[in-house]
Amino acid sequence: MEKSKPVDAGFGLLISWLLGPEDEVVQSFHRKGDFTVMKKMLRVIGLTALMASFPYAQYNQVEIVSRDLIEKFAGEVSGKIALEHIRDLSVFCRWYGSDDMIKAAEFVKSKAQHYGLSDVRIEKFKVDAETYYYMQKPWHAWNCESGELRMVEPRNKLITSYEANGPCVLVNSRDADITAEVVYVGTGTSPKDYEGKDVRGKIVLASGYPWEVSKQAVFERGAAGVLVSWMLDTPASHSTEIYQTRIAPWNKDKTKVSTFGFFLSTNQGRILLQELDKGKKVVVQAKVKAEVRVPGYHPGVVATIPGSAYPEEEIIFTAHLDHPRPGAHDNNSGCALLLETARVIQSLIDQKLIDPPKRTIRFYWTPHVWGVDMLFQTYPERIARTIANINVDCVGLNQTKFSSGFTVTKAPFTRASFLDDIVVNILNYLILSNNNHMGQLPHAPMMIDHDGTRNVFYGRVVPYVDYSDHVFFSSGNVGIPAVTFIDLPFGSHHSQNDKFDLIDATQLKRISFLAAVASYCIAAAGPEESFGIIDEIYHCGQSRIENEMKLSKSLLRIEDKIQLIHQYKKARNLVYIGHQRERQALQSTKLFIKGARAAADYLSKALKKMDSSEQECLNDIKSLYHRQCRRMKIKPEDPELSKEELQLKNIIPRRNADLKGAWGILNTYPDDRYAFQKYSPMHAYLFEVLNRMDGQRNMLEIVQAVEAEALSSNYPRFSLDETMDFLAKLKEQNIIDY
Ligand SMILES: [Zn+2]
Repeated sequence: MEKSKPVDAGFGLLISWLLGPEDEVVQSFHRKGDFTVMKKMLRVIGLTALMASFPYAQYNQVEIVSRDLIEKFAGEVSGKIALEHIRDLSVFCRWYGSDDMIKAAEFVKSKAQHYGLSDVRIEKFKVDAETYYYMQKPWHAWNCESGELRMVEPRNKLITSYEANGPCVLVNSRDADITAEVVYVGTGTSPKDYEGKDVRGKIVLASGYPWEVSKQAVFERGAAGVLVSWMLDTPASHSTEIYQTRIAPWNKDKTKVSTFGFFLSTNQGRILLQELDKGKKVVVQAKVKAEVRVPGYHPGVVATIPGSAYPEEEIIFTAHLDHPRPGAHDNNSGCALLLETARVIQSLIDQKLIDPPKRTIRFYWTPHVWGVDMLFQTYPERIARTIANINVDCVGLNQTKFSSGFTVTKAPFTRASFLDDIVVNILNYLILSNNNHMGQLPHAPMMIDHDGTRNVFYGRVVPYVDYSDHVFFSSGNVGIPAVTFIDLPFGSHHSQNDKFDLIDATQLKRISFLAAVASYCIAAAGPEESFGIIDEIYHCGQSRIENEMKLSKSLLRIEDKIQLIHQYKKARNLVYIGHQRERQALQSTKLFIKGARAAADYLSKALKKMDSSEQECLNDIKSLYHRQCRRMKIKPEDPELSKEELQLKNIIPRRNADLKGAWGILNTYPDDRYAFQKYSPMHAYLFEVLNRMDGQRNMLEIVQAVEAEALSSNYPRFSLDETMDFLAKLKEQNIIDY
């Protein structure tokens, strides 16, 4: 990282606008007394005043990377290069472990090598009926070569084909070449749907979830195959979406294997249904070449930019590589963005415009959902080395066309660190520079790609939410701070309509810039840079606390005499937990400080300020409580623990040390072992309850912390009874003990 330059190119332009051509200025100053000199002088004074109030491009934040560095990154990054990767990847139908996913992995590998990245290789993670990665048993590898469905009676019509729309062949289909009659079975998911119907050897048409339809029709009743089309019974629906979904690969005791299935759009399904409704016999011909691969493997691609000083400390980027064709937004956009981010950093290093980062930047194109557990189970030593994760899943939408906003999901409170504030700092720069019309000075040139739109930029930050692979970093024994870059709401996913033309090169340019600058800032930071980062965390922290103070005070502004003391407790709790989170975030900068004296002193000063802030906030809340008591004519009390709370204090949950990986997914995998019906551990509230179970904290501390987090982040909350019920279930399943 380099020192800030006081005047940037953007201001350079502003200066020439204010002063006119340079020689004119010189001449004017020579003609003393000339009125133009006065005018120029006034303009200079005006400019100086403006520069004093806006010394740099960013307002309300600390400049944590120099303007010089920002210009270098902005000058190198190309949205169009990323867009070209999306186009190239969109030809592959990338189901886990398919030939096309392997081809996509090879494409990424060759690009990474071409860009000069290090340690580039394809990881092959074995997947079969027995192999778990931590607590997850991944979905099987499946490959499809071709598939065609045509109506042959009462007339000839090609209904769908794998060549036209990849998602149409249901995952786990196998080879088929059959001509048979179609029977409509309604939703097709319960025995009732089949009453009075003979489906043996025939092909069912249903509107229910394919997995269930295949069980009922094929395994239970000997149907030859299934056609599924959603919303057939909703006349208003004329959907053309063809979603990639799955049929069951075999029955429960594995005595029968899957046959085949097609997903039809509502409109395609109706072609068949309308003939049936007319009382006609409908016969179709189905041809499929596909196999369930057991064992198979899921490919992932890894590459690095090695650290120069602390190579053993790593920041890791993830983007999931799988998904149906075309999958332009979900998630070829993320894969392309990682490639462009890597290219930009490597290219600037190769041109000697920036120093190599002190820490390693790792890029991981991963199998969605299980990829993180696969990596850490295979290389457990990497958990301790990894300092942060930036996960990229669905970015680059043309924002104006699709009414979508670029979103950074923050880490949960348990993973508070430097990561959120560094990423958001650069995000704010993007927001300001691409919205000059907001009434501020022109902060910086807009970032527009030659081949993209001139859209303004919508960017925002939301509290932790579980949408993507960052959850596997944030939880369980992994516990690494993680954020996700995602467009919300997102486009047309898992269907043939997730097309290339949703994506905007300008948007890709901006997000690649964000990814490259934020990761480089983290990877390059040493003691010198830590001052700015400490300042940024401290000041952002203060503003978070201010918001929580507003919330705390609003809790106390009630008319209920009995509730007041309980509200007072909640308000105090918000203050405690908020400060605890901020101290944790500040402490995380020790990674950059590495014991350097001046920076360490600076950090302890910031921590001390946080302590006095806590005391001030508590006093503030206390006076409001007392004022409310006087007004309501009740005696103020010191909050005490209730009987319930005292009981909670005696419970210290310990996690089963054999269970590793992400807690969030307990609900689904392995579903036969951990059947949680009522409570999903993916829910932010319960996710954090689990994260706080470290064998040291008691349930009172855990519940108080999560209550404050839920209030502050606006998570839906669980009652104490529900939380205790969840706890009992975890114990019952041997996930925790207490
Ligand atoms: Zn995705």
